Amino acid sequence: MPNGTSTGQKFYKLQCIECSAEYDEKQTATSCLKCGSALDVIYDYERIKRRMNMFALKNSPISAMKYLDFYPILDLEKIVSLKEGGTPLYHAKHLGKKLGLPKLYVKNEGANPTGVFKDRGTLVEVTKALELGAKAICLASSGNMAASIAAYSTVAGIPCYVMVPEKTPIGKLSQTISYGARVLLIRGAYSECAKLAVQIAQENDFYLAGDYVFRREGQKSQSYEICEQLFWRAPDYVVCPIGSGTNLSAIWKGFKEFYKLGFIDKLPKLIGVQPSGCQTVVEAFNKKKRKVVAADYIETICSAVAVNYPLDGNMVLKAIKESGGMAVAVDDDDTLAAEALLANIESIFVEPSGALPVGALKQLSEKGIFKKDDTVVVVATGNGLKDPITAMSNLPSPPSLEPSKEDINRYLKYKLYKLRAASSKGRQKTLWNKMPTEKQLQKIIKEKFDILIKGDYLRAVYGELLNFQAKGKSVTESDLQKIVENVLKEFSSKKPVLKILDFNLQITKTKRPVTTIDIEFMGKKICAKAEGVGPVDAIIAALKKGIAKDDKLEVRLLDYAVTIHSAGTDAAVEVNITMGDKSGEKVLGSATSPDIIQASTDAYIRGYNALYWKSKKK
Ligand SMILES: *Cc1c(COP(=O)(O)O)cnc(C)c1O
Ligand SMILES: [Zn+2]
Repeated sequence: MPNGTSTGQKFYKLQCIECSAEYDEKQTATSCLKCGSALDVIYDYERIKRRMNMFALKNSPISAMKYLDFYPILDLEKIVSLKEGGTPLYHAKHLGKKLGLPKLYVKNEGANPTGVFKDRGTLVEVTKALELGAKAICLASSGNMAASIAAYSTVAGIPCYVMVPEKTPIGKLSQTISYGARVLLIRGAYSECAKLAVQIAQENDFYLAGDYVFRREGQKSQSYEICEQLFWRAPDYVVCPIGSGTNLSAIWKGFKEFYKLGFIDKLPKLIGVQPSGCQTVVEAFNKKKRKVVAADYIETICSAVAVNYPLDGNMVLKAIKESGGMAVAVDDDDTLAAEALLANIESIFVEPSGALPVGALKQLSEKGIFKKDDTVVVVATGNGLKDPITAMSNLPSPPSLEPSKEDINRYLKYKLYKLRAASSKGRQKTLWNKMPTEKQLQKIIKEKFDILIKGDYLRAVYGELLNFQAKGKSVTESDLQKIVENVLKEFSSKKPVLKILDFNLQITKTKRPVTTIDIEFMGKKICAKAEGVGPVDAIIAALKKGIAKDDKLEVRLLDYAVTIHSAGTDAAVEVNITMGDKSGEKVLGSATSPDIIQASTDAYIRGYNALYWKSKKK
């Protein structure tokens, strides 16, 4: 061995899972050179057993590094570790009670160094890259693997090139860039990034990382840890999401190894979970096929598993069948609800893909898959902070209040903290055909959101809804939620000094839009006319012009943001306007309407009134 390093003797070989061709890792460590299928590491388990330190295995605390004997690593001096693994296995008593599963556990893989189980695989993959003399690493990712490889490449001291889809969630992207990877945002889907990564790696002699053979070996440690955490017993079921299928096939291999070595006396059944909009493995399973077919089109909010062709799909399909388990699909709405539920009753915050197995539990229980005393382990694969924007889309935004005791007490009095997000299923459903009465509205709000609003507050909400009605837009649960929130913000300020009575907008193809507006300002009726580059600009210009003479605040627009909460040209839009006055005071005005002009004027007016009363207080 060169220079007397600790390079060990080979105790494994790489083999194609389909044609059984064998390879040295210097030839290929990605896919079979003959048939293109996935490779597997075949070990000499007798040797592993002989050199294993049984005392340490049984007595030392869990961590991915504890199981070095089970990884195809030759040079221990090259190991790149960030202390991955050793993640908690929570006994999910509240969720278990809801589902009639007293022995339900959640393996929280979000507790890994970069917030995802992939770090376990990256430990082995980047170590192998160093062993094999890589000068740079290159990969395609939907975000999590990018962040993980970026982190490990940095401590390994080699550059890392990452290709990710343009829509990669912000948490993953900010991590990857922070760790110092050279990130390329590709205007396409993950599948296009994956193809490019293979080519770029080849042409530039970069080490190609991804859902390949060495990664799988590292990710086996999830199973070892689960066995230890259940006091050296295997669970009855393991429920886990499938993206490329690498992780679930790794989990299966881990359990089989511990079984082979006599550490556990049975194997669990595997349940693989995919989103309904991307259910390649589920389809193959249901049709009793041996091979997974690539999907032409996929659509899901679970970005970490949005893979149109799972590289390890065939392997995971085989594992599921061998285990006596199954593959099931979950709708995005149910996944979002599961994400919220898991955080809400077990305080485990996961990203949507990590919530897939929890989303599946309900249908599995209803189908009577589990026996009451079965031990079920759910793998919560990734941390919720990875994709906070998707999480927020399903949560109520807290009210933004003036810094006043009265406003906070009003919030408490109306129990607005109870205001939940519109249920993900009902969010886009029309609430009524015929406008309800105020009394009926009060009842609807109580039923939907569990809060009782009355008096002026109820009247104000009702007034907003009449505006919706006048525009000919049906009200959805999500609209109602936003209105209840926004009216509170307004309601908490004093009597308005600026009101809008009517406006008229002229838009043509070639001329700038012109607005005429009637307002009431400080008790005076004013009519103003202005043009702008766009309709919103024109109306705000007219508003400013109308109040200019008596405006002592010298209001400036600091930010203008539009959010559309659903699809369709008739969707309600939420406008948030930040404005400030000459003293540096700032406020946020918000409004929701099916009409963007209406929402913009309402938000402006709310902001103005709030600023006015703020300046009076001084
Ligand atoms: C990668 C990933 C998965 C899917 O794992 P595969 O090995 O691709 O099947 C699931 N959840 C999260 C959070 C992931 O990052
Ligand atoms: Zn082959």
